[in-house]
Amino acid sequence: MEKKELDWGSIGFNYRPTDFRFVANYKDGAWDEGTLSQDANVVMNECAGVLQYAQTCFEGLKAYTTEDGKVVCFRPDLNAARMADSCERLEMPVYPEDKFVEAVVKTVKANLAYVPPYGSGATLYIRPYMFASSPVIGVKAADEYQFRVFVSPVGPYFQEGAKPIVIRVCDFDRAAPHGTGHIKAGLNYAMSLYAISDAHRQGFEENMYLDAATRTKVEETGGANFIFITKDGKLVTPKSDSILPSITRRSLMYVAEHYLGMEVEHREVYFDEVKDFVECGLCGTAAVISPVGKIVDHGKEICFASGMEEMGPITKKLYDTLTGIQMGHIEAPEGWIRVID
Ligand SMILES: *Cc1c(COP(=O)(O)O)cnc(C)c1O
Repeated sequence: MEKKELDWGSIGFNYRPTDFRFVANYKDGAWDEGTLSQDANVVMNECAGVLQYAQTCFEGLKAYTTEDGKVVCFRPDLNAARMADSCERLEMPVYPEDKFVEAVVKTVKANLAYVPPYGSGATLYIRPYMFASSPVIGVKAADEYQFRVFVSPVGPYFQEGAKPIVIRVCDFDRAAPHGTGHIKAGLNYAMSLYAISDAHRQGFEENMYLDAATRTKVEETGGANFIFITKDGKLVTPKSDSILPSITRRSLMYVAEHYLGMEVEHREVYFDEVKDFVECGLCGTAAVISPVGKIVDHGKEICFASGMEEMGPITKKLYDTLTGIQMGHIEAPEGWIRVID
């Protein structure tokens, strides 16, 4: 199969329409079969539930080429399950989990020409999502929905190596207790845009959100979970009902324990203890791990021992092992790698 002529190393993390996307519609209480479409545009009523009351959720995962030339994606069943949770919390009809994985596979297959080659550092980003498509004016869940999957080739997340970033403790809250922080809802992102733009204006790359109730515990950033390494080499990651359960974070916890023999603690993490950690990172599908070199709390700095030049040594080991599993250099746990072609 002919690959598209793209400069894979320098395409950046941008949306680029590809030839096909998957579209399924929910109407009269049932999903239709769904089909691949060449139309990148969505046309809907002006009063659609998504436009008026933000009834929408999404997922994000990647397909890529492994060393032996297979096109695969990473744990899509977990994205399917997480989207089902998001839909339930937003009064949206669940798209069956097995059909979700099928739709992802179908969409990637239809766009194989856009899957970057092994070694390019680029990947095919996959975006499944659902939104309320029928009109609602009184506040209630809509009757009709659309589930779609599009893909877009994206460049290497780090153009020249993963440089540690500087983040700040944020005065805005991301998620309320008993709210929607644990689901992948567009609304969680809409209200974080002001906070992230403000962080950028002040010269910080990300926001560290604290728990909204007491502002003493670490939650996450706008789109990635935290991992910390203790002096004695333990992986510690914050636990809270308002954190989005990152698939990367759950995979790193498994890798730390079963591949690297590390102790793993998933527990409440008080901001006061952050200064005692030696390494810090942000984890999510896009970058796998972004190292954090410094956290600024209203002028007070926490500088991690790993410094501002490179990823800390244990973070690096975690990163290399997980990406090694993804790329096929290291044997993956049963069921982690879904071969597409
Ligand atoms: C998607 C997301 C993450 C990362 O999850 P992955 O499954 O690892 O990509 C972390 N936090 C938030 C708020 C997210 O929306």
